[in-house]
Amino acid sequence: MPHRPIDLHAHSSVSDGTETPAELVAAAAAAGLGTVALTDHDSTAGWAEATRAVVGTGLTLVPGMELSTSLGMNSVHMLGYLFDPADPELVAETARLRESRLHRAERIVERIAADYDISWADVLAQSTNGATLGRPHIADALVARGFAPDRSAAFAGILHWRSGYYEPHEAPSPMHGVRLIRAAGGVPVIAHPATRGRSTNIPERAFDELVEAGLMGVEIAHRENTAAGAEKLRQLARRHDLIVTGSSDYHGEGKPNRLGENSTEPDQLARIVEAATGWAPVRG
Ligand code: AMP
Ligand code: ZN
Ligand code: FE
Ligand code: FE
Repeated sequence: MPHRPIDLHAHSSVSDGTETPAELVAAAAAAGLGTVALTDHDSTAGWAEATRAVVGTGLTLVPGMELSTSLGMNSVHMLGYLFDPADPELVAETARLRESRLHRAERIVERIAADYDISWADVLAQSTNGATLGRPHIADALVARGFAPDRSAAFAGILHWRSGYYEPHEAPSPMHGVRLIRAAGGVPVIAHPATRGRSTNIPERAFDELVEAGLMGVEIAHRENTAAGAEKLRQLARRHDLIVTGSSDYHGEGKPNRLGENSTEPDQLARIVEAATGWAPVRG
């Protein structure tokens, strides 16, 4: 039986997507997906709305999150699926991350404001209340002010890490992120680990350490993974018997990525569901 596509990585306006969780669910149904995961950065605030929205759509929702972590100079994104969203340690860590992202965004905007007519209020106007703030919202403010044609151009220019305005935000190690997600009954899957341009990707030794910490999967089919990187990831996945996923990393109109442009095989989703003890997929 052919199956409808499974897309395990999508953002809503709870972080830096441009659609509300309900709009994202509607877009996923309209795109013909069978399953979509909601994976906002450092927040589960969209789970309830997405769960209500999925009723009657025939779509399955996999509640999740994309946890910010860092290793040296590298920002590492850790997807977590089907964990307990009330887990106290995870709740505390994500609250810290959102707070640290907020202050970091304020400092970036302060620096930009020395050269461009832009204020913190412009950035807040581009985000919903309580959203996980980041450069995408600053990008939207720059676009609204006419300093960039779109988000991607803002990222390539004023918001680039070499622009002089940039600073990273503080985040726990990916090993700690993996342990937090596991302790909350979830399934950690490292997001787009073979992205071009990051000062190389995770060294193989760190990868082994991640597996020891409890990493269960790796996102291989993703538009930002290089072909050579993806091949290497396939070998690592085979060696460690990891779950392999593919996803769009949809951000609504904020990024060119389209829902379902990459997808995950049903047997791999089954492994995720089987391993999770914190939450269950929501069948609409
Ligand atoms: P930050 O985490 O604040 O450093 O911002 C980086 C985040 O921006 C990544 O998670 C990207 O997925 C997200 N992002 C959203 N839209 C874009 C875009 N058009 N170009 C680059 N990154 C984007
Ligand atoms: Zn994002
Ligand atoms: Fe990411
Ligand atoms: Fe993402």
